[in-house]
This record gives sequence, structure tokens and C-alpha cells, in this order.
Amino acid sequence: MGRKSPASARHFQAAAAIFLAIYPGFVGCKKAAPPPADTAAFKDFVDRAVSAEKIDGYLRYLTAEPHVAASPRNNELARYIAGKWKEFGLEDVTLATYDVLLSFPKTIEVELVSPHSLRLKIEEKGYPEDPDTMNPDVGIPYNAYSRSGDVTAPLIYANGGNPEDYDLLEKRGIDVKGKIALVRYSSPYSYRGFKALTAEKRGLAGLLIYSDPEEDGYVRGSVFPDGPWGPPSHIQRGGIPYDFIYPGDPLTPEWASKPGARRLSPEEAMTLPKILSIPLSAENARPLLESLNGEEAPQDWQGAFPFTYRLSGSRTKVRMRVEMDEPVKTITNVVGSLKGTDDPDEVIVVGNHRDAWVYGGHDPSSGTACLMELARVLGSAKRAGFSPRRTVVLGSWDAEEFTLTGSTEWGEEHKDWLRENLVAYLNVDSSASGRNFSVQGVPSLIPVIHQALREVEDPVEKKPVYDVWKAGTAGEEGVKEEGRVEPIGSGSDHAVFLQHIGAPALDMYFDGDYGVYHSIYDDYYWMTHFGDPGMKYTAALAKIWAHMVIDLGCLPVLPLDYETTARELRAYISEWAATHDPGKEKAAGLLARLEEMEKAAVDVRPYVFDPEKARNIDKDALKRINRLLIGLERDFTDPVGIPNRPWYKHLVFGSRYTYAVLLLPELTEASETADEKGVITAIGNLEKAVAAAIAKLEKISTLF
Ligand SMILES: [Zn+2]
Repeated sequence: MGRKSPASARHFQAAAAIFLAIYPGFVGCKKAAPPPADTAAFKDFVDRAVSAEKIDGYLRYLTAEPHVAASPRNNELARYIAGKWKEFGLEDVTLATYDVLLSFPKTIEVELVSPHSLRLKIEEKGYPEDPDTMNPDVGIPYNAYSRSGDVTAPLIYANGGNPEDYDLLEKRGIDVKGKIALVRYSSPYSYRGFKALTAEKRGLAGLLIYSDPEEDGYVRGSVFPDGPWGPPSHIQRGGIPYDFIYPGDPLTPEWASKPGARRLSPEEAMTLPKILSIPLSAENARPLLESLNGEEAPQDWQGAFPFTYRLSGSRTKVRMRVEMDEPVKTITNVVGSLKGTDDPDEVIVVGNHRDAWVYGGHDPSSGTACLMELARVLGSAKRAGFSPRRTVVLGSWDAEEFTLTGSTEWGEEHKDWLRENLVAYLNVDSSASGRNFSVQGVPSLIPVIHQALREVEDPVEKKPVYDVWKAGTAGEEGVKEEGRVEPIGSGSDHAVFLQHIGAPALDMYFDGDYGVYHSIYDDYYWMTHFGDPGMKYTAALAKIWAHMVIDLGCLPVLPLDYETTARELRAYISEWAATHDPGKEKAAGLLARLEEMEKAAVDVRPYVFDPEKARNIDKDALKRINRLLIGLERDFTDPVGIPNRPWYKHLVFGSRYTYAVLLLPELTEASETADEKGVITAIGNLEKAVAAAIAKLEKISTLF
């Protein structure tokens, strides 16, 4: 996982507050020996230490072999990372293992039965200029957690495989029940697991999901090995579990998959699909589409092939055979830490997943290489006398590609401790596929994000990343919107920390043309030729990451911004109220409370963000202030969870059909189903959350 949709995430008009958080020469970080260090010196040390060459070395090693979750190679990489982290000077480096349900293919076959017989070759072509693509050990492309079975049925073409697509087919008199649907990964985009659930609900016999060249192939630009886009045989592997119900091991929702843990039977696991699904390349899909001779598909369903796409075929029949192995296997997270000097009980977690569908050049190994460099420079900074006052924990998560499994199990295992002590979780799923900085995060982290972007230089433009980001970028589709912190959804390892625990979280990367997602071509060759030649942007991201860790880890008062939180929340609620009748009336009380919250946060802000004012706070008061600040984001969770999918506890940031955010999930879902009682409950929960936040902010102002 770890990719946002090719379609843009939802944009909200709420003005992102530009926060001039200036932290000059701040006495925040304790040096092991005098003279006392400050955050500026710490950051300066880090900026000098980050090495693009080192990152390139890590990336080459990490991508030398395919390393799917629980494979011998991925386990070897876990030991390699643990060894390096110890060498770098991290403490408490451990391998955290869990026994979880995984899913691997034994047989994956697709055959055109009529009008003529054709067995599809579901494999990706090798290119001699990139020997990694010639590796015979690369496994069969598949959709993890597909059901096993053998079905033969008429074929239909169903565009993106979303509910509205099947509605259109039904309207045109095509009965979709019992058919095999061929659908596109994008156009319009939805998470593949949502496509599977939709097909299952509609009674289809099977699902074939392919990559149309219009979305990530030759229509976009030159293809691998000459360019970054997907060649005709590239296949997007990927899991299809229903992780919008809950992520993590399908057999242990809400609790960790430790030995002896209670486990559901696979039949009880709500996240396991009951439909067959196979991913195909454009090349595979072409003869299937060509064989359809029924009614023409609508204009916006047409793809890149030079023939008319049709909805059905009078004689087209397809056979799908899927034989899966679903073992419970041991997965391995690597966890290490730098113990805080003054407040070791307050914790910042940074993480990335290690497991890849194949080599994972970009997703995730570029991010893993970035994490390795972060670990190395924090370790050498410590030796040079720079240590954060709070504890920093680093996580190399396993089995993210299956269903965010490693991070979710770890988060579930330590949920009480994390709920109490986690300041923020900073994720880098993948580091760079281009030059456009992109971040999804909660509003309370905006000052920390902006500050890091102001301090780190764009390696090509030679000016702050912040300036390049704010200026927007000219792409083939015109000028991109100026940089802003997008609301955060799911799609990578931040999910458990944000949506289950309720901690501030973000995910960030440098974005660019990337058409080889989850294919064999996402490898070292791709990264060094197209994604980030010279690893300059990955190095910049390592610096940005480190600067955020330093601010969150070292500043005496936690730099969390609840004024922007209140303002953003007001914008979300106002948007909801404007589109629901009588939304304005129902939301009036809540909006008034949010105005109060904003005022209370404004009163506190000078103390939170002004080093001079914060300097005189006594130790006990500081402790209490930071404890209240940590608790604030938690106020926006519902301990019993949102209806129908209680694993998800955040009242503001959720996700559902795509990796993008679903704002106000409880309220949105209640109003979608015209559940008046649900709407009232959801608003009541938000009001309670805001009241709790106001009480904390008022308490904080008495402590300064
Ligand atoms: Zn990923």
C-alpha cells in the first residue's frame, strides 16, 4: 500500500493557517556534556550528517532481492536493520514478532474460454538492461486474500468496479450477477479491496482488475525501462482485505496476534473477501476487452486501447482459477529507540514498512533507506552530545502490504501505553518518486511541518522546500495547487496510531510520475533512473523527518497547534452543515463550541510557540502542560468506535473506499443513511470532544 489515489485527494477550502513558528536558539535539548545544545545546533548537525551516498547504499542492499512479508529475505533484512540500529547507537533494539494470517498464491490462472480459447500469461516481461526484472524467483502476481475457487462465467466490463458502475450496467439491462467483471484499477479510483467488496455484494462470480495504459502506462509518458510509467505487462499486485472494517491480522481485530491469543476462524473474520480476484496487466486485459461485442461503453469508460470498449459480449466467457495458501506465519517488526533525557515517558514514533510485493524500490525501500539514514544520523548526533529530551522510537514494520499488519499488531499490543504517552507518529511509506513535496497530516502538526520545510533546502531549486511547495508545481495537467497539508486518511502504517489510538500523525514523500506501483519494475533501477537519481530528495526527506523529530522531541512545550485544529474542524463541520438539511440548525451548538475552542487555543498559543515565555515554566507545570497537550488529540476519539466498524475510533479523520481521508466518519456515515439518531449521537460525540479539549486548553492557560 502506501499510495494515495492517482485522482487527487479531497481538497477542502478551509484556509490552512500559516504559522510562523519560530524556534530560534532554543534551549531544549540536553547535551550529555556542557555546553547545552539547542535545537538549531542539533538540526545543523543532522543536516551535515545526512548522506545521499549512504542512502543509496541502503537502498541497493534492501532491494537486492524480492522481500515479501515473512519471507526468509525479509526476515534477513529485519536482522540486518536491527544490527545496523545497534551499531548506530539505538537502544532496546528488538524484533517484535506476531503470528498472523497471510495469503500466498499456489495457482492463478485466467483463460478466455470463448469466443476463442486463450490462456493468459500472467507474468511481467524481463528487460536485459535491468537484470532484476529477469529474476526467475519472482512470485506469481496475485491479490492477497482472494478466495480460492474455479469459476467460468460470461465477462462484463465494469469501468472502475464501483457501485455506480454496476448501477449503470444494470440500467442498461445487463444482469451482473454470476458474471466475471473486468475492471480498471483507476477511473475512477477506489481501493482494490473496496472493488472486491462491491463485486461480492453484487453477486459477481469473479473480479479481474487491470491497469489501463491511460492511467499509468504509455498514455502518460515513456514506459519502463525508458521512463517511469508502466510497460504493457506490468501488474499491480495488492491485498484486497476489507481493511476499512479493521486493518491488521484478520483473525485478531483490536488485539495483538501474540502466541496464545484468541483467534477468530476465517469464516468469522469480516475483512476476508468471499470472491475470487486476480490482477492483470494491460496486455492481459486487451484480448478480453477485444472479445466483447455488446453495447458500447460510455465515453468516460473508454481507455487507451485503439478500439471501442464494450460492456458485455454475446459469447465471451472467461475461466478463473485461484488456489491460495492462507497460512498463519510469523512476521517481524524491528523496533529501536533513543531514550529521552528529561521526559523519557513522552514518545515520538517514526516508521516505515519493510515488506515489499517484489523489490519495492520506491514502495517501501526508498522509505526504509530514509529511515536507516534517520537512525544513523540520530545515533551519531547522540554520540556528539545531542539527545532529545523525549524518547524517539523507530519502527520497521512488516506485512504492511497485506493489511497494515505489522504496525497494527504492534499498536494494538501497546495501545494503553501509546494512548497515554504517544506525542505523534511520523510515517514515511516511500520517500521519493519525484520532486513535489506532499504531506497528509492532522492540523495540530502543521507548525512542525512548516518549520521543517522552511529549514530544509530543495536539492535542485536551492531554496527552502517550503517555497517550492507553496509555489505549486507545473505538471502535465497544468499548475498544481499550492502546497498544503492535506487531511490524512489511511493507506499506510499511520492508520493504527491515528485512527485507533488517536495520536497526531502524518505521512509524507516527494511525489512524481510513478507507473510501476506494486510491479516487478518498482526496483533499484527504477529508483535510480526515475524516482530519485542520486537520492537527493530522499536525503532532503531524511532531513525534514529529523527536523520534525527534533522539534517534537526537544522543545520544552510540545509544539502542537490546536488553534488550527479548531479552525479546520469548523470548516469541515460547516461544509457538512451546508450540505445537510437542517444541518445548520443541528451543527449550530457544535460550531459555537469550536469557536470557543479556537479562542482558548489562541490564548495558549503564545506560550506554546514562544520560547521566551516557555522558558520560565517550572518543571512540574511543564509536565502537566505537555500531558494535557498529549491528551488533546485523544479527545477526538470515541472509545467505543464508530458504528459498524468500531476499530476506527477517530471522530474527524477516517477512511473508507479509498486511501484518502473520509472526514467526520461517524457523522458522515450516519447522515448518508439518513440515520437521524446517528447524526445526533455523532454531533453529541463531537461536542463532548470539543468540550474536553476546551477544558484542557483552559487548564493549560492556568499553568503558564
Ligand atoms: Zn508502501
